Amino acid sequence: MEYRIPKRSAVAFAIDRGASFDVVTPEGRQVADLVAFARRDPSERFSQSYTRDLNGKLRITTGDDLYTTAGEPILTITADDCGVHDILFGPCTEWMLTDRPHREGIQNEPGGCRENLALAMEAIGLNERVPDTMNVFQHSTVTDQTYFDVRASTAELGDTVAFEATRAAIVAIAACSAKGVASGPVLSPIDLRLPDGTTIHEGTVRTR
Ligand SMILES: [Zn+2]
Repeated sequence: MEYRIPKRSAVAFAIDRGASFDVVTPEGRQVADLVAFARRDPSERFSQSYTRDLNGKLRITTGDDLYTTAGEPILTITADDCGVHDILFGPCTEWMLTDRPHREGIQNEPGGCRENLALAMEAIGLNERVPDTMNVFQHSTVTDQTYFDVRASTAELGDTVAFEATRAAIVAIAACSAKGVASGPVLSPIDLRLPDGTTIHEGTVRTR
């Protein structure tokens, strides 16, 4: 089945061990923030640091695993059109979007990925805090021994990343709310391809 995550919103769904799902940027450049939890014990969840450590990489792609806080694989990337994703930055938050000085005159709306993911997690019954995310299609670069920054996403129209669940998991994904360097000045949706019959739980902070 296919599902379109509207711009600036998030969904959560359960995925069985061995099942796969695709994350697609239908218009290109749009970043998607992804988290995953072990279904048996959701306090075990995706860990950016173990994912960097156990892959020995700052950037992951086809053949690499996403690891949990227990150092166990939870998702494997089985195909990747883009090849450039971020595991250095956290999800954007409402205060980042509204309180930081605006670059290039870009005005962001309230409701960051952290808030949208929290609502989607609540909708599926997950009583956990939002952990750090894998930021699919986000292009970040380490510029020297000290600094890292964000560049324009290199994801082209229709670029797809395929994930296989190594374990029964709950996954939450946000179409990133941050206009600017990564996703560009105009936000767009994120498409999912999911096993038939997957129940989608939505979470979106609506602008007041
Ligand atoms: Zn975001």
